[in-house]
Amino acid sequence: MYNNNNFYKKNFIFKIIQNDLKNKKYNFICTRFPPEPNGYLHIGHIKSICLNFFIAKFYKGNFFLRIDDTNPTTENIKYINSIKKDLIWLGFQWDEKVKYSSNYFDIIYEYAIELINKNLAYVDELNTQEIKSYRGTLLLPGKNSPYRDRSIKENLKLFHNMRLGKFPEGSMSLRAKIDMKSKIIIMRDPVLYRIKFQKHHQTGGKWCIYPTYDFCHCISDAIEGITHSLCTLEFQDNKILYNWILNNISIKNHPKQYEFSKLQIEYGITSKRIIRLLIKKKIVKGWDDPRLLTISGLRRKGYTASSLRNFCYHIGVTKQNNIIQLSYLESFIKKELNKIAPRTMAILRPLKIIIDNFPITKKIKLKIPNHPSNKNMGYKIIYFTKEIYIDVLDFSEKEKKNYTRLILGKKIKLRYSFVIKANKVIKDNNGNIICIHCIYYQKTLGLKINKKDPKIKGIIHWISCSSTQPVLFYLYNNLFRKKKINNINNILSYVNKKSLLIYNGFIEKKLLQDQKQQHFQFEREGYFYFDKKNSNKKKIIFNQILSMR
Ligand code: ATP
Ligand code: MG
Repeated sequence: MYNNNNFYKKNFIFKIIQNDLKNKKYNFICTRFPPEPNGYLHIGHIKSICLNFFIAKFYKGNFFLRIDDTNPTTENIKYINSIKKDLIWLGFQWDEKVKYSSNYFDIIYEYAIELINKNLAYVDELNTQEIKSYRGTLLLPGKNSPYRDRSIKENLKLFHNMRLGKFPEGSMSLRAKIDMKSKIIIMRDPVLYRIKFQKHHQTGGKWCIYPTYDFCHCISDAIEGITHSLCTLEFQDNKILYNWILNNISIKNHPKQYEFSKLQIEYGITSKRIIRLLIKKKIVKGWDDPRLLTISGLRRKGYTASSLRNFCYHIGVTKQNNIIQLSYLESFIKKELNKIAPRTMAILRPLKIIIDNFPITKKIKLKIPNHPSNKNMGYKIIYFTKEIYIDVLDFSEKEKKNYTRLILGKKIKLRYSFVIKANKVIKDNNGNIICIHCIYYQKTLGLKINKKDPKIKGIIHWISCSSTQPVLFYLYNNLFRKKKINNINNILSYVNKKSLLIYNGFIEKKLLQDQKQQHFQFEREGYFYFDKKNSNKKKIIFNQILSMR
């Protein structure tokens, strides 16, 4: 779980903290991961969790999980549970109890009153649309609201009545009194509180006014004693407001915010909003669909926690926006699986082979290593029999350029087994191949094929028809046809319609009994993960993690 990557510890945030410790600005470091519970976590969040967690642990400080639950309308207990589950699975145990921004609603309310008393906040009666039009643009300065100059007393009374539920939703809000002409739009009297007659999963019906993200976030950080508040680049402007609020209320701790770039990955999406859209449009089956870059999707696909952590430690942390190659992410799981996944043969698209010169009652026992270079992983026994399956893609009636598989009239070597020759193709009335009649060459068991031997072009995998377990193989392709999606509004037009292919094939019957593993390398096909959670006796699912074809 800990990170041995020295390059990571040289990132600019570590340098800042190192300096702060050296200058005795702090002697205890405290960080947090503050997800909004409006969806499941994705791979981008892992980057943020890795950074916050590792900094805290490296400096022997605290790492908190704070559920940023200021907006009751989009939040859901289901999401909170999934967030906790994902963090634990990743190996990032937070310190103390899970924190909730809503724990601080009472104190935040008091700070709002403090701002009103300092004439730094007012109750506005403009509606959302009006607030927007008064705000101006990057080129046009904003206009003061006609309600901006109420007396402190009147503001206190209105705010109190807002809290008591005396005004309808949208009719009033509490705004900071800053500067409607500020170059930074966020500073043009941002909203601090809005009315929402909505029950909250933590505070129930206690509140009908809720603080905004900007008002709540900095105060939550300060209350928890966060020293370095780390977030992504889009919050750069919010930092000015973050500091303004903390400077104008009587709170001691004043965390500093630092921004880093978001993780983006080729062909993928790291945005809860878009993932929600894909689910709603039934393009994916849910938050844990293996085509998504959610933590639960990656886990279900067969990614390990360590491969994801290592990936995040290797990409580092900077302020530059860039898109990481998908193959780079894949290289981390590949490296792990190469070591731990037992090798075996499985057939995704079965094609029956009948060996004419092999007796029906006979079977030949073969001892196969579970790993080519790790003898400690042991052996398994398989049988060669008269009827076997090979993959449809490994047979051709005609010669094809660079085709080194079974061709009608030609020979091929079966992996760990004999050389066979295809003599006859049996088809149904529609011309579909039913089976191939072959002969085998008894003396070729264990024969090493010679690349220069023109008669035997290659080796293909197979399994005996006598010991098969039917399974479904789920093969995943990129969800989007575009490497980099610039225009999020067109996102649905980039969806790859062939992102999921399902095959009805076979594994060795004893595979799941003999191996406690869920990860396998099916020779020549790729790495696969037994999707235990979604399988049952009647339906066994294997998800492809990486292809070898
Ligand atoms: P999304 O756009 O997916 O909804 P968000 O930023 O709204 O993401 P939050 O739940 O608010 O999601 O994020 C929690 C933390 O994770 C924040 O500090 C945020 O900056 C960080 N984070 C979110 N997405 C990424 C990403 N792609 N890369 C790195 N950090 C991220
Ligand atoms: Mg968000």
